[in-house]
Amino acid sequence: MFSILAERVRQKNRTVAYPAGEPVLPDRFRGLPRIDATKCRAACTTSCAAVCPTGAIQVNKGRLAIDLGRCIFCGACADACEDGVISFSREFRLAARTRKELIHTGREGTLVRALDLKMRRLLGRSLKLRQVSAGGCNACEADTNVLATVVFDLGRFGIQFVASPRHADGLLITGPVTRNMRLALEKTYAAVPEPKIVIAAGACAIAGGPYIGHPEACDGADSVVPVDLYIPGCPPHPLTILDGMLRLLGRIEAKRV
Ligand code: SF4
Repeated sequence: MFSILAERVRQKNRTVAYPAGEPVLPDRFRGLPRIDATKCRAACTTSCAAVCPTGAIQVNKGRLAIDLGRCIFCGACADACEDGVISFSREFRLAARTRKELIHTGREGTLVRALDLKMRRLLGRSLKLRQVSAGGCNACEADTNVLATVVFDLGRFGIQFVASPRHADGLLITGPVTRNMRLALEKTYAAVPEPKIVIAAGACAIAGGPYIGHPEACDGADSVVPVDLYIPGCPPHPLTILDGMLRLLGRIEAKRV
């Protein structure tokens, strides 16, 4: 017993301070892309768009935009551009309420708007979610699962994943929604009592990810059910998911720093 207590004292508190403090992200983390429009040459062969595996880059009249909902943050566009137009920041706050807000032109985007007051009052200090893996590769599921560990301690915010959709306030969907999972998703959505919220986590759940356009995939959750929160990434970093959910619940209102 004494050794357990001594180990507890030695390890100290392992839970990240976020949102009270800024988190430390790994060196390899790629966050919000930076687009330096002054360097972009309309006459170039749009090498960035040509290498993008998910068609996330749109070039229109020399103006470049990245669809963060499609982006898998592979970095190929930054490597391909000789002029250094695209680079990646360490900004992990990427979630948005609408697909349109995920079209990133290099300007600072809007952060997640909270649910309306009526919905927030109804939820109170608790949010129960049923996770639906609709054909995902398990990467988004793993980074969602890790939120329940001591490092992120999702339970301290009153957010928990539950086994039954009938006990849930909403769904968190991962995967592109394969044809085989479409009916299961529709039935799970129908089983959640009204009013309910839906979160699409990861490039697949937002737009199909690497499977976009495949005949066996539905190109994302919002082709089947209405979505209230989109969380980009492949997979999204746990802090990106946490930040999106806390902003949706109105628990964080601060701007980007
Ligand atoms: S980082 Fe995103 S935009 Fe760039 S090539 Fe990869 S998927 Fe496309």
